[in-house]
Amino acid sequence: MRIATITNWAYGVTLLLTFGSGAAFMASVRADGDERIAVERRSDYIRIADDIELIVERMTDQARLYAMRGEAAHKTAWLRDRDDVGVVDRTVGRLGALGIPQHEYAELLTADRDLDRIEAIERRAIAAVDRGDRAEAQRLLYGPDYLALDAGVDRSLSAFKKALKARAERDLQRARERADRWDDIARLLLGLTGLLFLAVLYFILSRRVARPLAHMSDVVVRMADRDFDADLPDDRRHDEIGEVTRALRLFRRNSIERERLEHERDEDRRIKDLIARMMHRMQGCDVEAELADVVVCYAPQIFPDLAGHIFVYDHGRGRLATIGRWQDPKLTIADFAPSFCWGLRRGHSHRSNAKGEDICCQHIGDIDGQDCLCVPLMAQGGTVGMLYFEGQDGDGRYAERAIYLDLMSENIGLALANIQLRATLGALATRDPLTGLSNRRHLEEVFNVERALAESQRTPLGCLLVDIDHFKRFNDAFGHDAGDLVMQHVAQVLKAHARERDLACRYGGEEFVLLMPGRDSAAAAERAEEIRQTIRKVSLAYRGRPLPPVTVSIGVAAFPAEADAASLISVADGALLAAKENGRDRVVIAGQTPPGPKHRVRAAS
Ligand code: GH3
Ligand code: MG
Ligand code: MG
Repeated sequence: MRIATITNWAYGVTLLLTFGSGAAFMASVRADGDERIAVERRSDYIRIADDIELIVERMTDQARLYAMRGEAAHKTAWLRDRDDVGVVDRTVGRLGALGIPQHEYAELLTADRDLDRIEAIERRAIAAVDRGDRAEAQRLLYGPDYLALDAGVDRSLSAFKKALKARAERDLQRARERADRWDDIARLLLGLTGLLFLAVLYFILSRRVARPLAHMSDVVVRMADRDFDADLPDDRRHDEIGEVTRALRLFRRNSIERERLEHERDEDRRIKDLIARMMHRMQGCDVEAELADVVVCYAPQIFPDLAGHIFVYDHGRGRLATIGRWQDPKLTIADFAPSFCWGLRRGHSHRSNAKGEDICCQHIGDIDGQDCLCVPLMAQGGTVGMLYFEGQDGDGRYAERAIYLDLMSENIGLALANIQLRATLGALATRDPLTGLSNRRHLEEVFNVERALAESQRTPLGCLLVDIDHFKRFNDAFGHDAGDLVMQHVAQVLKAHARERDLACRYGGEEFVLLMPGRDSAAAAERAEEIRQTIRKVSLAYRGRPLPPVTVSIGVAAFPAEADAASLISVADGALLAAKENGRDRVVIAGQTPPGPKHRVRAAS
């Protein structure tokens, strides 16, 4: 109910009660008036009775004095009193008309009648005195009739007064009770008015207005501080406070929605900014490890509640291998075949979670309430790797992050493909396609670096120049493909005998160089001998036809013992020539070759 309606009702009821209370007070006052009238009437009646008694007494006295003394003054006085009897008669008659109770009136009438008889006897006695018969007069006035009438008047009047008193007492009592009753009613109504006023005051001001207003103001202050946990109860009141409450609730809902949108917009800006920065950094990466560092740095900033891996597809091994991880992911293994992942199988993001909404990838272990996502990294129509996420608190919220995950995976995939492409192009530029060894151009680059290092640090730099003996014969007898096979066999052996810092290279035709930083000629020759023997030992066959044993001649030179750094390869070539001239299938160290007319030196470049 509206506060205005309650107020109007309370106002109306208060008015009614006030009027009722006023009426009760008036009734009480009227009852008091009745009481006063009853008292006055009783006094009047008693006065009449007293008058009758007094007149009887005075007339008796005057008549008897006249009878005894015969003085005219007594007669005059009696006559005056007798006139009063007429007044009494009229008064008594008027009382009868006023309607006093019958039995009371009867007593008064009896007394009045007896008064008339007494008056008649006294008149006779006075007449007897006037005749001079005082004895008769005295007999009449002291006779039994007279005395009986006199006593009768006394009796009637006292009976009348007694009845009158009793009735007057009753009337008085009734009037008092009525007055008291109206008094009580008036007080009660007044009390009720007061109570109603207080109740309305309490109900409206305290319960319906003050308390909700205090709560409301608290909520408004908190909302102004952007604390939207504060809420008003939905009590569906249909009054002014209810309308304000509903308006405030609406305002709160709108504010929360606005806050949410602002937060979403800020979060969107933050994430897109981070992804853009990550993209810029990735463009500067040369190798996969650098790209992994960038992703490991930015991924936890973009999604602070997600742990993850970046996997790269190793085409050689046909497996996915991790190159970076962040925030300690626990569930996936770090190296697995593509068939273990449903995301890679389908070429789409795949979510594995504990709720069993979808099939779980095999590379993920005991999922235990977690929520995992595999996002394939695709580029140029092929898979280059995979992004893997797991929610640290179980809920990855991947659906609402899909747009960012797509953006991330697209860019990381492209950057990864770029790096791989650059690596492939780099390899093509520095490798010999037939043997897989470095080409001569690459050798020159590496040689310049190693030469400078050796010169500055005064460390040895060994060099082998390897040439296949009578190679032309393989070509001529078995064809070029068989010759290629022999060349690949020699390259394989060289690669197997090269340490990490060594560089095996196809120098040209069927000649190879093995550059060995840190090795002097003795150590280099030792390795050359191993190579020679290993090549010789292997029996090759081409298309089912066994090939003759492959032998090589190797020239050895080392800086600084046999040559200065710049002419190292030329010196080694000289040693090779010596080996050829001395019968092939051997190792010759530069400077140990006997000088002869056929000795020739080739340029290193
Ligand atoms: P020597 O023992 O004196 O070194 O004799 P040789 O036959 O090995 O040397 P020669 O220089 O006479 O022949 C080298 C041959 O290698 C000539 C060329 O046709 C052949 N050759 C060069 N490059 C390739 C190649 O890539 N594949 C094949 N199959 N043969 C090649
Ligand atoms: Mg040759
Ligand atoms: Mg040769």
